[in-house]
Amino acid sequence: AGTGKFFVGGNWKCNGTKDSISKLVSDLNSAKLEPDVDVVVAPPFVYIDQVKSSLIDRIEVSAQNSWVGKGGAFTGEISVEQLKDLGVKWVILGHSERRHVIGENDEFIGKKAAYALSEGLGVIACIGELLQEREAGKTFDVVFQQMKAFADSVPSWDNIVIAYEPVWAIGTGKVATPQQAQEVHVAVRDWLKKNVSAEVASKTRIIYGGSVNGSNCAELAKQEDIDGFLVGGASLKGPEFAVIVNSVT
Ligand code: PEP
Repeated sequence: AGTGKFFVGGNWKCNGTKDSISKLVSDLNSAKLEPDVDVVVAPPFVYIDQVKSSLIDRIEVSAQNSWVGKGGAFTGEISVEQLKDLGVKWVILGHSERRHVIGENDEFIGKKAAYALSEGLGVIACIGELLQEREAGKTFDVVFQQMKAFADSVPSWDNIVIAYEPVWAIGTGKVATPQQAQEVHVAVRDWLKKNVSAEVASKTRIIYGGSVNGSNCAELAKQEDIDGFLVGGASLKGPEFAVIVNSVT
């Protein structure tokens, strides 16, 4: 981990029921969490209110997506204003499942980030290459292009956490090695230094996501440029998620 405050997010994706989420919240409420870590969970929209009213304040709540502008006649969408109304502090944008399953592109994601930030939400901005892009030696090209799309849209980097999530590692059980992750994190930080500013490069947290679990988090957390994690599957188990939060070094 670097010098910024360690940040661990749990992305619950499209999982859970009222009952399973009530159990997960009670496990999180009783978990012992290192104080010097930002901890955020992202429940499905329909359970955000339940989670907000039952989860301890020490853990903040994120959405998994938000509409690109002010709410209105956009059937099926959820606005930033509505998220704020529920007490949500963060939104995950650019997740690989939204890019590659739903088909969101860089420009649309950049606009969503700009709007969410302008309304005061923090943004967990996801980037990451596909397996064929890595194998073709294009990892840096892909993540730099995704970074540029954010940089072209956002007014400031103050409220952004970057999540590097290689797509081949998400939900596959194939975690990046600490060296593979560190290499991309350094490159992204360097990109920020060259294209935004040295200050933003040094203070922006870059977290890793992709099959992080209670057994592999400690080695990853030792890397200098890994400032935390975005966790999918393992965030559905309270005690294991707590182990990941507490892997801060
Ligand atoms: C994610 O969806 O952000 C993620 C990292 O998932 P998993 O931990 O399940 O690979």
